[in-house]
Amino acid sequence: MHKDIILVGKQGSGKGTQAKILAKKLGFKIFETGAALREIAQQDTDLGREVLDITSRGDLVSNDIVMKIVENFLKTLDNNTPVIFDGIPRSEVQRETLEALLAKNSRDFVVIEIKLSNEEALNRLLIRAKCNDCGANFGSPEDLCPVCGSENISRRKDDNPDAIMNRLKNFDEYTYPLLEEWEKAGKLISVDGEQSVEEVSEEIFSKLKEVQ
Ligand SMILES: [Zn+2]
Repeated sequence: MHKDIILVGKQGSGKGTQAKILAKKLGFKIFETGAALREIAQQDTDLGREVLDITSRGDLVSNDIVMKIVENFLKTLDNNTPVIFDGIPRSEVQRETLEALLAKNSRDFVVIEIKLSNEEALNRLLIRAKCNDCGANFGSPEDLCPVCGSENISRRKDDNPDAIMNRLKNFDEYTYPLLEEWEKAGKLISVDGEQSVEEVSEEIFSKLKEVQ
């Protein structure tokens, strides 16, 4: 069986797309924190009501609650189903508790970092758009949807240079220290995120084979 994957990459690295490709080709289940929280918040349980309460106030959900959600998620899987963690961990405390939880469940993991320079991330995010007709997300300076050809597209509102630079700064500040720890522990696989989607996948597949 495959080890779990902690997938790390800046916005614009194509991390979500690569997670979907891995899920489809190798049978990984994706744990995406934001989606998991939205799903839990709709459930009529103590945890669901608590999460709804916190998120509707606009507050951040505590690490304890995130870990409870991860634990519940792991319980829904059999032990042979590998998981991709997308968007977690975001802090040193979260890294330690997630690793402890995985160890407790007899699961092992590798970290895949999709590397991208801040300059390239900025370029990609500034041209990111969504088609209002077919829903496709794409990065393109063109004003036509590459999927359906519609001209009815919109640019994301939060993709202005200042907001993007701020998120990239947060990545450097909070995520880089985690990557250094994983590198020391021999857990880190880096792939070049400035290649095409297909080339990034190929690099991930071949490097994963070496560590499974
Ligand atoms: Zn379209």
